[in-house]
Amino acid sequence: MATVQIHNTLTKELEPIEPKHGEGKTLSLYTCGPTVYAHAHIGNFRAYVFEDLLQRHLQERGFMVRRVMNLTDVDDKTIRGAHAAGIALAEFTRPFKEAFFEDAKTLRLLPAEAYPEATDPKQITRMIAMIGTLMEKGHAYQAEDGSVYFRIASFPGYGKLARVDLENQRSGQRVASDEYDKEAVADFALWKAWVPEDGAVGWESPWGRGRPGWHIECSAMATGLLGETIDIHCGGVDNIFPHHEAEIAQCECVGAKPFVRYWMHCAHLMVEGSKMAKSAGNFFTLRDLLTQGWTGREVRYALISVHYRGALNFTLDGLAAARTALGRLDAWRERLVETAGSETTSETPAPATEGFFAALDDDLNISSALAVLFETLRETNRRMDEGAWTPAHARGMLNWLVRVDGVLALEPDAITTIPYEVEELVTARAAARTAKEWKKSDEIRDQIEALGWLVKDTKDGQKITKG
Ligand code: AMP
Ligand code: ZN
Repeated sequence: MATVQIHNTLTKELEPIEPKHGEGKTLSLYTCGPTVYAHAHIGNFRAYVFEDLLQRHLQERGFMVRRVMNLTDVDDKTIRGAHAAGIALAEFTRPFKEAFFEDAKTLRLLPAEAYPEATDPKQITRMIAMIGTLMEKGHAYQAEDGSVYFRIASFPGYGKLARVDLENQRSGQRVASDEYDKEAVADFALWKAWVPEDGAVGWESPWGRGRPGWHIECSAMATGLLGETIDIHCGGVDNIFPHHEAEIAQCECVGAKPFVRYWMHCAHLMVEGSKMAKSAGNFFTLRDLLTQGWTGREVRYALISVHYRGALNFTLDGLAAARTALGRLDAWRERLVETAGSETTSETPAPATEGFFAALDDDLNISSALAVLFETLRETNRRMDEGAWTPAHARGMLNWLVRVDGVLALEPDAITTIPYEVEELVTARAAARTAKEWKKSDEIRDQIEALGWLVKDTKDGQKITKG
């Protein structure tokens, strides 16, 4: 089996991914999911698309991937949102959960094995049990405010992921909120005592009514579903500190085993030089882009085509480039289908094609992989131009594309039924062309494209494909 190497945030080294001893080819993958207080923005989806590429490539390389993604449906932000909207927490978060699953489908994300929710009573019970163990072992204490805090001084490994220097920290400081910077490193909240702003949100615990901190939620859901040591844990770089640092501390103090073998983090999606974030208000949701006439496939291409650890500056030009690239791939694919005709060989040709997967073995080097894909496209087009390609060659190339699609998931949407309004425009455009009204014909084509469909003029008339 080919070796897949990834950059481990913990060691800052490239490391070959290997399953745990005795686990066959199975890998567990935990991916921090959305905090459902708003629609996920495409920065969040950069993280999810990167994780999807990782999962798909590992599967292509013969691994069985067991992936879990949590939904954070109780934390400081969701409670604040529900309070501002004047509705119950579950009522507030439900539409954002539903929207997340719709968006994930639009972006062709493989479903996870489980999507545990932090408010699930089973999960809350597990969180309380973990905090109980931390209390018993002296890693946690209840403070005067009634909340339970993790004592970072009790865990010598604290700071190893984010490389926080504990020497210069003032010990005994506490931080109650879920998010804070490295400068504010301090004992963090495991269980937050109920306060009036929490309203109806709260669960009974040995430390009184309250709610879990964000970090213990992920620790409990991850280890509860995937076991004490998880193979790969992913998120965006903003999760490294404090969230993942806290997750390590909690899990490694409850059990004695290493919590995670490989940590992987994607760089932020930026907008004009700053991080795209809900709190900064500079974000696009997928829905915004779909309304503007972009497709999920185009957004997926734009997000996937830059290496996950590289900065990605999100622009509409980038989406336009994605549209062009996909158009080239689609035209090539159609040409291969035409050339292959009824040829059914199951062989896959060797030219350069393994290079695509080999590039992804190298820490998901997508730029090199796409370079192989487009080089193969150019080369085969040239061969077809020369008439040097047989149907068997073309079918072989299509066989290879099936594997590529399995990893990139950028194939065209299967054409099902063309919507009535698109049909009407196609008919109107045919009439305009017969009348040689070229300007009008172009305008109608733009209207059709705005609805997410592409028109190609062939000798047999207009061909419509999903954009
Ligand atoms: P949140 O809903 O804020 O908990 O974030 C969900 C996931 O999206 C986490 O893995 C974050 O690290 C990731 N994320 C948030 N903002 C960005 C961004 N601008 N670029 C890439 N990933 C992000
Ligand atoms: Zn998490």
